[in-house]
Amino acid sequence: MEPPGDTDLLKSPIFIWIEINLSAVEDNIKNLRAIAGVPVMAVVKANGYGHGAVEVSRAALAAGASWLAVSCAEEAIVLREAGISVPVLVLGMVTAQEADEAIAAGLSLTVYCLESAELYSKRAAALGRSVQVHLKVDSGMGRLGTLPGEQTLALARIITGMPSMHLEGVFTHLACADEENPAPTHEQLVKFASTLQALQESGIRPAWIHTANSAATLAFPQARYNLVRAGVAIYGVHPSPQVRLPAAFRPALSWKARLVSCKVLPPGWGVSYGMEYHTAGEETVGVIPVGYADGWRRNRPNTVLLNGRRTPVIGRVCMDQCMIQLPEDASLGSEVVLIGKQGHEEIRVEEVAERWGTINYEVITGISARMPRVYVRDGEAA
Ligand SMILES: *Cc1c(COP(=O)(O)O)cnc(C)c1O
Repeated sequence: MEPPGDTDLLKSPIFIWIEINLSAVEDNIKNLRAIAGVPVMAVVKANGYGHGAVEVSRAALAAGASWLAVSCAEEAIVLREAGISVPVLVLGMVTAQEADEAIAAGLSLTVYCLESAELYSKRAAALGRSVQVHLKVDSGMGRLGTLPGEQTLALARIITGMPSMHLEGVFTHLACADEENPAPTHEQLVKFASTLQALQESGIRPAWIHTANSAATLAFPQARYNLVRAGVAIYGVHPSPQVRLPAAFRPALSWKARLVSCKVLPPGWGVSYGMEYHTAGEETVGVIPVGYADGWRRNRPNTVLLNGRRTPVIGRVCMDQCMIQLPEDASLGSEVVLIGKQGHEEIRVEEVAERWGTINYEVITGISARMPRVYVRDGEAA
């Protein structure tokens, strides 16, 4: 077991934080590039899945990613303001208010209906610029996109006829690539492929063709085309229990806290709202400053690591704090791990997701913005 480190609470600058290992992000990107064999678009929406969009983007680009993708214009502008000048695809709709800034920032925008095409081309023309767009096809997700076949062709013809618009990509999103049954994915890919062929037969040949999220990049080689859009894999988190990352990938995120209270309670003492937990005998109980407002959910049972061992969260999780059962050797300032490794023990995002009855994605993106993010690399302590 590793020593708990400096446990002087008053010397610690923070009591609760997310630690992001950027070496892990870099290695995960390199693994993905090797597997995909085509350029990687790193998906850094939702603040880089909670990891910090700017820092993750820089690490991903340093490791050879060539594109970035975000959900909305605001997220893309944050990247541009940080000096990141590589191609950035905005996956969702851009509002009329944001369009000028998005076009001036040289973002690639998604077009999935006539209205979005008209808005972007009008604004680009007014700015005396050309806007590059990717046409989104709904091959079976039922979300954004034109239906395969004639509907996609019709919009593609309109786009290519617009003087201030450049069609640089065509893409689709797969609904079931992370599931056991490959049939729905094959069906989507067939629909997409025939639409792509029809486009090419009408002389429409966009430079970038992309359909693969992380799961499809791993499990469906034919989905890779000439660009893959990987999110969850670059953070080292498994796409699903059915589609798991190869062993070379590792999680970038740890969630840590320090014990801010450590005391002995008398027998029969109530702990937390509702006093659902009562001490049996004399019990040592600790407090860590993390609660449901931080994305640390009230679902039970919750477990954390302390001194390299698992210890339960007791009583209800509060908004900003929760209580844990303490071993004898705990002391004020001891490091507690909510997600990550301590000594020989590890709590993975997957375990927390299972505990909360949800998916990995929701655990990491649900960690609140008020949580400080601390960036480290291999061999560096926070
Ligand atoms: C979020 C998203 C991705 C990334 O998905 P992962 O499963 O995290 O790899 C790719 N494409 C689109 C359109 C997305 O919305």
